[in-house]
Amino acid sequence: MKDIFSKYGLKKTKARQMIYEALNNLNRPVSTEELHCNLLKNYSINLATVYRNLNTLEEINIVEKVVRQDGISYYYLPKKGHSHYMVCDSCNDHFELDICPLDLNLVDKTYDNGFKSTSHILEIHGICKKCQKNN
Ligand SMILES: [Zn+2]
Ligand SMILES: [Zn+2]
Repeated sequence: MKDIFSKYGLKKTKARQMIYEALNNLNRPVSTEELHCNLLKNYSINLATVYRNLNTLEEINIVEKVVRQDGISYYYLPKKGHSHYMVCDSCNDHFELDICPLDLNLVDKTYDNGFKSTSHILEIHGICKKCQKNN
């Protein structure tokens, strides 16, 4: 693995490397607890260390954080810039949308009150195909 940490002036530690690799393998937003469980399969690490390192990686934008409606923070490695997720309310699985359905320029134009939008958070909830079958 190339050393992405040194690029950000960050020491490459075993913990950071393992966290990065786990997020890369999981390839979807995961809670700290879920990530911790996943790491424990092949690496002995405590939850506090996972928390601390996720915060560090998030501060320098190696890792993205999204706070879901349930109030839990989920972490993931950002893909090609901007993306959104569809979340299954039944099994909690995530599906990445590679389109952005929201045009902020259009929003600013439509609501012509001088507000200049700069960013947005959007999460689509529903029931995935698998869960629809199980019901
Ligand atoms: Zn589901
Ligand atoms: Zn968007």
